[in-house]
Amino acid sequence: MANPRRGSEELQGKMLLKIIQSGHPVLRRTARALAPKDIRSPAIQDLIEHMRETLRDAPGVGLAAPQIGQSLQLAVIEDRAEYHKTATEAELKERQRVPVDFHVLINPQIESLSPPQVSFFEGCLSLPGFMAEVPRSRSVRVTCLDHHGKPRVIEAEGWYARILQHEIDHLNGRLYIDRMQSQTFSTLENYQRHWKNQPSAR
Ligand code: ZN
Repeated sequence: MANPRRGSEELQGKMLLKIIQSGHPVLRRTARALAPKDIRSPAIQDLIEHMRETLRDAPGVGLAAPQIGQSLQLAVIEDRAEYHKTATEAELKERQRVPVDFHVLINPQIESLSPPQVSFFEGCLSLPGFMAEVPRSRSVRVTCLDHHGKPRVIEAEGWYARILQHEIDHLNGRLYIDRMQSQTFSTLENYQRHWKNQPSAR
């Protein structure tokens, strides 16, 4: 998932992966599950590290393997405190947005703990320059494996729950445009100009 705040970061020594753009069929496939022994392989450990670097460079708060052309049930998430500096306290509070440490989701299963009725604008690194309001569940439970292949249960709410829903959608071939309130679809520029400070259209 995109972070609307663009920043610049030192690029030296990083392995940046090309982010696949909407329209490519890999974004519409159901990704393949990973076996625990594959998770610990150098190939997957390197992929995770390269996805982390690519996510930070973008910058974004989530990146799913299909977005870098790998049809695997793997996504990385990180919502850094520095991304919140340009948001107001009210925006952060309304979105229930708090920092989330870097972590990996593998073979995730998601369960909504509330109906999909919280609407906020979100964007996607595979559809740069656009945003739309997407109704999502306020809270979710995710069962997955971590980067060592160890089982993990995550209960999340607010913005973190939104990021989880967005990234796990990618692993099932879905994009936010499939769930958006289509009349709110907006360029980033028009979002900043007309919508950013408006109460939600919900
Ligand atoms: Zn996305």
